[in-house]
Amino acid sequence: MATQTAERATTRNTIQRALVLEAVRSLHNHPTSADVYEVVREKHPNISRATVYRNLGVLANRGEVLRVEVPNGADRYDFLNRPHYHAKCRVCGGVFDVDMPYQSDILAKVSDAHGFAIEEHEIIFNGVCSECRKAEGR
Ligand SMILES: [Zn+2]
Ligand SMILES: [Zn+2]
Repeated sequence: MATQTAERATTRNTIQRALVLEAVRSLHNHPTSADVYEVVREKHPNISRATVYRNLGVLANRGEVLRVEVPNGADRYDFLNRPHYHAKCRVCGGVFDVDMPYQSDILAKVSDAHGFAIEEHEIIFNGVCSECRKAEGR
């Protein structure tokens, strides 16, 4: 009986994780965890916020989605899970992909800093997005 319960729990976790992954993949605007929760809840009103948040963490740790840590803002989640760079709009807070090759050689320039083993890097450009520039008339 205990095994059956565990199996059922595993199945439920797998289903919930798939729902969360599907929601992230349906959103191409770098949603926050709150945004992802809203989308999941539309179709599955019984799923809890904590469940969605926990599964986002699992998916990010597994590399199935990319977690983008935004300075002074909520973490964003990205269906595009290969390394790439972002720009953040200081007006609306939107996060956008930047079309720029991943600078793998940048690591060679910093690898001997205090014996620190650098594994990855992120770059976030700050500015004003095209929509906000239009609204500002610039
Ligand atoms: Zn903007
Ligand atoms: Zn992105």
